[in-house]
Amino acid sequence: MLNDLRSPALAVPATPVAPSGHLVDALARPLHDLRISVTDRCNFRCVYCMPKEVFGKDYPYLPHGDLLSFEEITRVARIFIAHGVEKIRLTGGEPLLRKNLEHLVAMLRALPTASGRPLDLTLTTNGSILARKARALKDAGLDRVTVSLDAIDDAVFKRMNDVDFAVADVLAGIEAAHAAGLGPIKVNMVVKRGSNDDQIVPMARHFKGSPVILRFIEYMDVGASNGWNMDEVVPSSEVVRRIGAEMPLAPLDPNYTGETAARWRYLDGGGEIGVISSVTGAFCKDCSRMRLSTEGKLYTCLFATQGHDLRALLRGGHDDLAIGGAVARLWQGRADRYSETRTINTTGLARGARKVEMSYIGG
Ligand code: SAM
Ligand code: SF4
Ligand code: SF4
Repeated sequence: MLNDLRSPALAVPATPVAPSGHLVDALARPLHDLRISVTDRCNFRCVYCMPKEVFGKDYPYLPHGDLLSFEEITRVARIFIAHGVEKIRLTGGEPLLRKNLEHLVAMLRALPTASGRPLDLTLTTNGSILARKARALKDAGLDRVTVSLDAIDDAVFKRMNDVDFAVADVLAGIEAAHAAGLGPIKVNMVVKRGSNDDQIVPMARHFKGSPVILRFIEYMDVGASNGWNMDEVVPSSEVVRRIGAEMPLAPLDPNYTGETAARWRYLDGGGEIGVISSVTGAFCKDCSRMRLSTEGKLYTCLFATQGHDLRALLRGGHDDLAIGGAVARLWQGRADRYSETRTINTTGLARGARKVEMSYIGG
């Protein structure tokens, strides 16, 4: 199995760490976001994420009993919120494949935050069943959705998702999410040179002037399955140049410190786009995210080679103070900055180390 098997249980500290709503890591970055993967399964086989050759019929997905239950996830969220988390994103795999996900949304929505500000609760989805789910998700208390869409041309999109899924069905999901009030909706397009970079301008043209904010993501070397190669990365600067040549753009200020996307607006008032330079412009210095895998392992970085087993503590009879203390110590010891080190020595990893899959911990 390509998931991470080398995950020591988190240690409960001898002295409790009372939650103060503010926790910083070894590089002074606050803990602010929690990304929760609710399933390691997906109905797409995106070539850059779950290529068919690796994620075939016999791929050993997690058995149901290994998954955190909604009650366990909600408990983890409550502990993280006490330590200062204000934003939770549900992801996967394809999160809408998890049965009754709206029940989890309702449970998370009911959690009070440390600051008293409402929790920012969002979801990243491939949009395939969003048309059916949007209303229930909104009614349960979801704030927004981000939808992944890698092409506006059907043939290119089908080659990217590799399961013959049509663009029109994702667009119907986006439409339903908009109608349900799950906005502002962001659409993420991963750009892989030679596969879908001819879709940069058509995608921009399609969403220009609509309420959707389109964002282009540099193809990343996550996981160990996608055979990543720097030649296939289209730098954000090139994306901006290619769109700007046809539809002039000007830079916009970030909405907040640590925003991963650099914002650009159309000079003719047609809205904005974002570019996420995950490879050419590392944003580790403001990275405030912890990731929780489907089976309850914590990852302090998207490119981690090792998780930390929280489920053992959840199922081991520890109280919230003890588990919160273990979480606090993990964050306080965090010094990850993979994307910055990758820029220096290309992989940023020790020889032989293997990164965890994106479909397993979510984006
Ligand atoms: N299945 C959902 C979806 O596709 O939106 C949620 C999980 S998916 C792993 C989260 C995001 O990660 C998607 O926007 C996807 O395009 C992005 N992603 C996956 N592999 C990537 C890679 N190698 N480089 C950049 N982004 C990637
Ligand atoms: Fe599935 Fe999302 Fe990965 Fe595509 S990017 S294979 S939709 S988890
Ligand atoms: Fe955060 Fe790791 Fe990505 Fe840097 S490489 S931004 S530390 S997840």
